Amino acid sequence: MNLILLGAPGSGKGTQGVLLAQRLGIPKIATGDLIRAAMKDGTPLGRKAKGYYDQGLLVPDDIVLGLIEEVLGSPAAGQGVIMDGFPRTRAQAEAVDRRLQARGRRVDRVLLIDVPEDELVKRMMGRAAQEGRSDDTPEAFRQRLAVYREQTEPLVTYYRERGLVTTIPGLGTVEQIADQVKRAIGE
Ligand code: AMP
Repeated sequence: MNLILLGAPGSGKGTQGVLLAQRLGIPKIATGDLIRAAMKDGTPLGRKAKGYYDQGLLVPDDIVLGLIEEVLGSPAAGQGVIMDGFPRTRAQAEAVDRRLQARGRRVDRVLLIDVPEDELVKRMMGRAAQEGRSDDTPEAFRQRLAVYREQTEPLVTYYRERGLVTTIPGLGTVEQIADQVKRAIGE
């Protein structure tokens, strides 16, 4: 099963993705994690990404498309994958479609985790205190929200036209939201 988790920064995609990956026994792949690891290791990709990342901007598609090709083409993704934090642009969505098609697969479902904006800001402030991410400053977070609305939210229409989107209200306990996720994919 190939699933996409879509939602604003702070919507809880990552948390639900981990639980879902454990239940389904398929990997959760987060481009944000891969980019953070590349920055920490100081790889060429990490060095190119850092300026965009720290400002809360998207890392350009010419860098991310290669990453997507690589992860979706890997043996680990052969039985399906949970995509967390990608695709984030139309070009990335098309790359995902092409890469899955080449394996005789497709996007099976898109779970849109929907959280009101004031709650997102509250969560970001809590997370900044706990994790100290360099893009969890109020300025970078506001930028990430704006980028989500402008560049990523249009993907909801892209997938809705194909009947793939289930909206999950992202308020409540982790368990309550996980139950709704289960229902959405017929678990
Ligand atoms: P995340 O951990 O998913 O919130 O991503 C954190 C940051 O990593 C984003 O604000 C972007 O700078 C970068 N990033 C992660 N995934 C992508 C992607 N698919 N396309 C472009 N930039 C990305």
